[in-house]
Amino acid sequence: MEPGNLINGRAIAAQVLADLRPRLAALRARGVQPGLVFVRVGEDPASRVYVGRKEKTAAELGIRSETHVLPENASEAELLELLDRLNRDEQWHGILVQAPLPRQIRPERVYAAIRPDKDVDGFHPINMGRLLLGDPGGFRPCTPAGIQELLVRAGISWEGAHVVILGRGNIVGKPLAALLCQKAPRANATVTLCHSATRDLAAHCRRADILVAAMGVPEFVTADMVRPGAVVVDVGVNRVPDPGAKGGSRLVGDVAFAAVQPIAGRITPNPGGVGPMTIAMLMQNTVQAAEQLTA
Ligand code: NAP
Repeated sequence: MEPGNLINGRAIAAQVLADLRPRLAALRARGVQPGLVFVRVGEDPASRVYVGRKEKTAAELGIRSETHVLPENASEAELLELLDRLNRDEQWHGILVQAPLPRQIRPERVYAAIRPDKDVDGFHPINMGRLLLGDPGGFRPCTPAGIQELLVRAGISWEGAHVVILGRGNIVGKPLAALLCQKAPRANATVTLCHSATRDLAAHCRRADILVAAMGVPEFVTADMVRPGAVVVDVGVNRVPDPGAKGGSRLVGDVAFAAVQPIAGRITPNPGGVGPMTIAMLMQNTVQAAEQLTA
């Protein structure tokens, strides 16, 4: 039995995927099989795992997928040339370049090179702009969209809530703030965005109705930073040394889970919270791309 205040990301992600099945069936009836192509550069172990999970979920849904792997020392020009080919290849409705990229490749150049209507990761400047403007026609980045969906489906309202986000990264914190501050259903929150220059960060945290930790700092959020009854969302994925664990390390989030869980009103486990939602939203964006490109 899981404790009553856990938000089960795996179960909610399964609901999101189940809701895609009728849309996939409608596409199939028109002879369309959505196609999602991945690009990895180098052999970063975490990237291999992430792409592997995304491919597996795609296969379970009947979404065609393929992964292109470039060597660690590939140039930016080589990657852009590959993206140009994939942009023009009609069998692919969605293109995802897995982060992190090696130093010689500028992520902003890569994201801007993907066709906006195939940009299922939502990082193209046009899709980021649409997100900021509240235009629902664009693609929303998968992790922020997954966090929004997770709480909505868990019965927690963002409307009017004071949401404190720790971390202003371009992948999670910044787009999540843009998503939740919209005057729109499933949003309409008051957002405080904290970062490394924030003064008295703990005091901001204690004022949160919903606290989202997306910094990449192991177990940063401690019990004294959480108002009793607040909702806590742990986005961080951090590998820490653990001589007792298999391989000498283990994964922890940005929240000191054991201490915070008894105080929180609701809390996401990690793993099993935000991660599965990120994958589910990628599948949703891919279905949307296939629908829009073949309409
Ligand atoms: P990022 O771009 O590196 O951003 C980290 C942010 O945290 C920055 O804004 C940084 O502040 C802030 N920060 C770092 N240390 C801090 C401190 N001690 N006090 C206050 N702020 C601090 O990271 P990201 O790409 O957004 O990812 C954040 C985390 O989410 C990572 O652990 C990543 O692995 C995880 N993640 C998980 C998923 C998932 O699906 N579960 C998906 C994506 C990312 P400055 O801006 O001032 O430097």
